Amino acid sequence: MKVLVLNCGSSSLKYQLFNMEDETVLAKGLVQRIGIDNSYLEHKPGDKPKVKIEAEIPDHHKAIQMVIDALLHDEHGVIKDMSEINAVGHRVVHGGEAFADSVLINEEVMRALEANIELAPLHNPPNIAGIKVCEKLMPGVPQVGVFDTAFHQTMKPHAYLYGIPYEYYEKYGIRRYGFHGTSHRYVSKRVCELMGIPYEKAKIITCHLGNGASVTAIDGGKSVDTSMGFTPLEGLLMGTRSGDLDPAIIPFLMNKENMTPADIDNLLNKKSGLLGVSGISNDSRDVEEAASNGNERAQRALEIFNYRVKKYIGAYAAAMGGLDAIVFTAGIGENSISTRAGILEGLEFLGCKLDPERNNVRGKEALISTDDSKVKVYVIPTNEELVIARDTKEIVEKL
Ligand code: AMP
Repeated sequence: MKVLVLNCGSSSLKYQLFNMEDETVLAKGLVQRIGIDNSYLEHKPGDKPKVKIEAEIPDHHKAIQMVIDALLHDEHGVIKDMSEINAVGHRVVHGGEAFADSVLINEEVMRALEANIELAPLHNPPNIAGIKVCEKLMPGVPQVGVFDTAFHQTMKPHAYLYGIPYEYYEKYGIRRYGFHGTSHRYVSKRVCELMGIPYEKAKIITCHLGNGASVTAIDGGKSVDTSMGFTPLEGLLMGTRSGDLDPAIIPFLMNKENMTPADIDNLLNKKSGLLGVSGISNDSRDVEEAASNGNERAQRALEIFNYRVKKYIGAYAAAMGGLDAIVFTAGIGENSISTRAGILEGLEFLGCKLDPERNNVRGKEALISTDDSKVKVYVIPTNEELVIARDTKEIVEKL
């Protein structure tokens, strides 16, 4: 079975075509600047060189058509006929309370997705557009939605309710949903395979530290708490997002700076985090470099970043009443040696001892704790696309 995995953003689209017989990636690529000028597609077929195709790409219809054309191309294509694509798996950001699992897309599901637009106004519309275009371009090919929020639907009310009048949960669905669920699910299962322990009994904390970042507590294979909330703004300090803050700061700043709701939303989502504190960049590599050259604000930004992750690890160990493993994943978690060391410093009391030599690793699976560390610490590169392909295959096989 061949599964096309699509991740449609507002101006970009990432894709991978999997051969599910051996889970190999036949081709992958991305379309950039959809609906803007200078748009292009970058396509990488198997182990052949990457090709870049520049074209006017006004919308997702054209983008997905170009992806299909690239997959079928005489020279850099990897399939001979469209009918070789047996199913399409879509990453969908917000499934709200409607979806606790991946699902075969049908009319009823589309209605539920449309109803969730309010909860993710920037993310869900391009996801929905991608599904609609595939229905047109590949009629009859089954499509599956895999949600960032689904894994966290196991959270209990005490973890997902906010301390505001209950009527707003009932009226608007204001509660914590959590995101990055596909990644947290993948690395938490994988760490149990590596440790040879049953998923159903393990207590794991997964740290997905990328441009967006979240920590999840997984007890017995279920997400019991996660640091992102109603939107992906809550929790850790991120590239450009503030994470946790006293909500009273919002009206205070709006008054002082004469800001509209859109202004404050933009400030907290786009101008805060590593970028806002350091004044240098949202990219942790730039901030790390500036800090190592003595820039104090860059140092502060990294300290806040590490401290927040550490606090969540402590809180989640308490929430689960124990801890077997911590996993680091995503761009920063997989690559930043100093960030991992900074986060784990002082957590020896929890039974967590980092091995500095083992920690000297980037971008590959590795145990980085000492042999006598009670809590095992791993680096595991995430693979959300593979999870989407696997879920799609599992659902489509049952049809
Ligand atoms: P992601 O959102 O998972 O793509 O992660 C993006 C973040 O990972 C950015 O802040 C990058 O600076 C960071 N990152 C990627 N590679 C490295 C690296 N080699 N060292 C430190 N940070 C990295």
